[in-house]
Order: sequence, then C-alpha cells, then structure tokens
Amino acid sequence: MTWNVHIRYEGYERRREVGRHSRALSRTALCAFVLLAAFTVAGCQGSGGRPSASVRIGFALGTLVQVRAYAHGEQADKAVREAFARIEEVEALMSANVPSSDIAAVNRKAGGLPTRVAGDTLYVVKRAREYGDLSHGRFDAAIGPLVRLWGIGTDHAKLPSPEEIAAARSLVDYRDVEVDESAGTVRLRKAGMALDLGAIAKGFAADRAAEALVNRGVRSAFIDLGGNILVVGSRPDGSPWRVGIQDPWKERGATFAVVPVRNMAVVSSGTYERFFEQGGKRYHHIIDPDTGYPAETGIVSATVLARHAVDADALSTTVFLLGPSDGMKLITRLAGVEAVVVTDDRQVIISPGLRGVIEISTGWTVRFYGLEDVQES
Ligand code: AMP
Ligand code: MG
Repeated sequence: MTWNVHIRYEGYERRREVGRHSRALSRTALCAFVLLAAFTVAGCQGSGGRPSASVRIGFALGTLVQVRAYAHGEQADKAVREAFARIEEVEALMSANVPSSDIAAVNRKAGGLPTRVAGDTLYVVKRAREYGDLSHGRFDAAIGPLVRLWGIGTDHAKLPSPEEIAAARSLVDYRDVEVDESAGTVRLRKAGMALDLGAIAKGFAADRAAEALVNRGVRSAFIDLGGNILVVGSRPDGSPWRVGIQDPWKERGATFAVVPVRNMAVVSSGTYERFFEQGGKRYHHIIDPDTGYPAETGIVSATVLARHAVDADALSTTVFLLGPSDGMKLITRLAGVEAVVVTDDRQVIISPGLRGVIEISTGWTVRFYGLEDVQES
C-alpha cells in the first residue's frame, strides 16, 4: 500500500507519494518514516521561478523536529539535510541520555578530573552559566540530580520523598560547574552532580540548523523543534512568518495567539509540555532548584521571542522560573527580546514591544507589562 502525505502549503494542499506503508499513520510510524523521508513540495523549480520547498520531519533531542526551507533548484533539499545533521550533532554532544555524549562524560567524572569537550558544548555550558547568573540561580544547568529523581517525561516518573529531594538538591548548584575555556574542559566539583541542558540545547540546535540553511543559500525557512520555533527571513512571498502560541489548556497545536515575525525565535516553556498527575496535582518538568519541586510561580506558559533560539529557549525557562513579575522585569531590561506570559488565572501578560503586533484570540484578558490598561480580547 502506498502512503500519501498531505502538506498544507500556502492555502492549498498537495499530495505526493512518498513511500510504502501498510498501517495507518501513528506517531511512532510517523517518527520511523520521517527519519527516512525528505520530500519536495511546491511548484516550479529552476533559477527564474518560484523557489521550491523542502520539508523534512524527524525525531531528535527527545522531540519531533520539522525543517521547511525554500530555495532554488536542488539547494533546498541539500540544505535541509544539512540542517538535520547539525541538529543530530547537537544531540550527540549534549544529550545527558546518550552515553557517548560530552555531557554524559562530564557527568560520569563529577568530582573527578576535567573533561575535554567540543567547542559547541563548551559554548552552551558557558551560556547556561550566564543564565544562571541572570536568574540568580533559578535557571540551573546542574539540575541533573533533580531531573533524574523526578523522571518527568519518562516511564519511571514519581513523586520523590522529602529526603530524596533534599539529597538531590544539595548537589544542584551551577556555580560548581567549572568551565576552562583555554583548556576546553568542563568539570563538576562534587561527585553526584549532573549537567542537564534540556532547557537550552534545543534552542542552540535550532540556531545551528538555521546557520546551515543560510550557508546553503536559503533565505526563507521554518524550523520547529517540538514547538521551539526559529524562522529564517520571511515567507517566500515576502510576508512575515506567522507563529502560533500554544493554548496551555487545549490540545497540541491549538493556539491562542499569533505573532508575525521575520528572522526570529519564538520559544515556549509550559506546564503542559511534560508532566504527570498524582492525587489531582500536576507535577511538571521545570524544577525550582531551591525547593526541589516543580516551580510554582503562577505561570502556566512563558513564550520568549529573541533573535537567537539559544537565548529564547534559555529565557523562556528562566521567565517561567522567575514568575510573571520578575520574569517580565528581566525581559524589558533585555534589548530585542519580547515575552508572552500566561498565568494560571488565564491572564495574558505581554511585553510592551509586542503591542500592535501580536494577535490574540477572543476571550482572553490581556495586559501589556508596565502599561496601565487591561484589554479584553
Ligand atoms: P524547557 O522546556 O526549555 O523550559 O526546559 C525544561 C527542561 O530543562 C527540563 O525538562 C529539564 O531537562 C531542564 N530543567 C528543569 N528545571 C530546570 C532549571 N531550574 N534550570 C535549568 N534547566 C532546567
Ligand atoms: Mg527552554
């Protein structure tokens, strides 16, 4: 049996036969299939005509990845393949769950000798440390022991005992992560410490993917790493990309707002992303290093817009951890960065730079941070 894939492309649908499969499309089948499939959609090729689009979907960094790029001739396909290779490289270096990764090696040697790591790993650890400073320790790349203990998003997620939490907490402090730039090494001061770059590595991977696309001549692309969006240029027709923001209370893909953007990352952190429920309570995956429990700041989702996805990714987690007031205060201090926060009482707080730009669905109470008026959308 053949398998048809439908692709929505600028308002019309194209079908293209891309492979053979005998079962209905399931998530697993999709992941298995898409690792192999790269397919071209859209019209005329050749240097004079409209650019052709290449779309590839795969699974990396624990999430579904989609890269869509527009270029003339064969370039789009090649560029998208390279973008995927960059993302896979980041996963191979920085995933704590890949035993051969830099991060797994650093974690194994915690309390021991420094580990030589790739330049990219060094860079991301360094940036993560900066976000530790910026958030006064809320964003903590040494969160590993607590992430492992809770196991949120794995099949062994559980509510730990207070003793277990206290023991793990005592090992979490990003200031005990030593980065030696001249030697190219990273070292964790205490045995039992563990790095976890889950809050920043996807953003870095998106930046690397975009770089690969641009180097191949792509001027228009859309990169999606499990809802972490990075757009290159504008849409092929010159209009801005339209990025939706997830409604935290609705099914995946249901959005409550749209931001028209060019050359921008739009990254969300939310309680809906990974969690388990026990005794009527939701335990999500963003942990407050001070308490050792999932952070309760009144935020259900924080979305950050920034030029680079590495910043948008780290900052969305940071704003989530800081809460609406301190989070927004930080955002307004940073040049070229905007944010959209949704609180647990369904308020939407938006940085003033998005006024007149963001489009909000009806039925929400909206406030622009620092401005007096409250709007009903
Ligand atoms: P994100 O989805 O980008 O907000 O990142 C959440 C992920 O970052 C979690 O799944 C953990 O891997 C990691 N993480 C959890 N708590 C923290 C924290 N306090 N600081 C830095 N990373 C964290
Ligand atoms: Mg993040």
